[in-house]
Amino acid sequence: MAWIDSLSAAQIAAGVVAGEFGATEVARASLDAVECRDAEVGAFLQVSADAALEAAARIDASRAAGDPLPPLAGVPLAIKDNMNLAGTRTTCASQMLASYESVYTATCVQRMLDAGCLPIGKVNMDEFAFGSSTENSAFHPTNNPWDLERVPGGSSGGSAAAVAAGEVALSLGSDTGGSIRQPASFCGVVGMKPTYGAVSRYGVVAFGSSLDQVGPFGRTVEDVALAMNALTAPGRDPLDGTSQEFAVDFCEHLDDGVTGRRVGVVPALMEAEGLAPEVRRAVERAAAQLEQQGAQVVEVELPHLDAAIAAYYVIGPAEAFSNLARFDGIRYGYQEEDCANLAQQSALSRAHGFGREAKRRQMLGAYLLSSGVYDKYYYAAQKARTMITRDYARAFEQVDAILMPAAPRTAFKHGELSDPTQMYLSDLYTISLNIAGNGGISVPLGLGEDSGLPVSAQLVAPAFHDRELLTYARALEVAFGAAPVAPACAQKGGELA
Ligand code: GLN
Repeated sequence: MAWIDSLSAAQIAAGVVAGEFGATEVARASLDAVECRDAEVGAFLQVSADAALEAAARIDASRAAGDPLPPLAGVPLAIKDNMNLAGTRTTCASQMLASYESVYTATCVQRMLDAGCLPIGKVNMDEFAFGSSTENSAFHPTNNPWDLERVPGGSSGGSAAAVAAGEVALSLGSDTGGSIRQPASFCGVVGMKPTYGAVSRYGVVAFGSSLDQVGPFGRTVEDVALAMNALTAPGRDPLDGTSQEFAVDFCEHLDDGVTGRRVGVVPALMEAEGLAPEVRRAVERAAAQLEQQGAQVVEVELPHLDAAIAAYYVIGPAEAFSNLARFDGIRYGYQEEDCANLAQQSALSRAHGFGREAKRRQMLGAYLLSSGVYDKYYYAAQKARTMITRDYARAFEQVDAILMPAAPRTAFKHGELSDPTQMYLSDLYTISLNIAGNGGISVPLGLGEDSGLPVSAQLVAPAFHDRELLTYARALEVAFGAAPVAPACAQKGGELA
């Protein structure tokens, strides 16, 4: 009949509502696509076939009873493994939590399920979301569906790869410094980091609590808009003190166009060292396209953005150090046995439970928060944070949105960036938004002429103007085409009966 990967989330839900196929058929097709493709891609850590089929059976029963169906009825969903789903393990791709069974469900996951999504499984990531390549997973690497020798980006690499491989139509990721937008860029899918506070973080394992934000991946802008509706429509989550009411319909203005909109470009960012020429040219083409569609492209400055990476690698590790202190092998996590005393048990459990990067971040955080050092770095980073936030506020007095690269280059090969500071530069264009808190979206722009791999642009808007981001993204999608499923994966398993 059709291949599951030829349908968007919107089309799957419409097909289920119209009775063209059942949710159970969709679940089976998605599980089959995972079966046939994931041996090569390695996006999944855990497939929750029973939960997916049960959710599908409930939807089919509702339809048979003539009940109204939710907006994402029957849409296969992959969930980053730092989000709790009761009945699954939530490992954060760490030995520390290798056997941790969720006892409750994160609000973001629950809302996607309430909107009708089928939980196909939990997907790979960099351990505790530290990284930009998913190579820091304690379990296995994930391969970029466009070129299996390359990384999918990170830390939400499994979420991006599962969507790019056509195994699922939607996925959830988290973004502390770029972990949704950079892998979306590497895998050629749409990825959105909403404004801080737009989506509840309750039940998501914390990395940097002032930076973390949950968001969706999809192959079309409309699918991402539908997911945003599911995540925000029920209102603020009383279980997350930073969550805010965000009462907009993200689908409502998708096709409004960009006529009369002022779009900023930042010359210093377009000339940055390390920006691949093919990415720069793609972003320039996107600017020209928005202009052709009636937007006014204006140069703006963000003078303190060069401090963003340094500030992030102070604030992020400092917050991570305090958030990860609970994984001591006593209250949670991997437990070393036969120890002389509790202190030794905790020390050895942490030494053996955490991988290299997780240890590096925590040691850095402990150092940065120690007396004498705290004033010098943490305080300076907070000042930089204020300056970066003000830079954006000033720029948004002149423009409605800013267009910039999402990642400085296309996907790199496994093992290519072995120096952590080189890896940290992958986040050049994404980190400042987590620092300032406003939303951003990575939009695919086809393939780069040098690498033949997906290239993308990022759009950035003022806080809580996330709906507008989708309008710009849609304008680019119309011009550059919706994200295709990676050719090597397309239609390998996953036929709808
Ligand atoms: N790559 C960045 C880091 O390593 C961002 C990670 C994230 O957003 N979770 O910290």
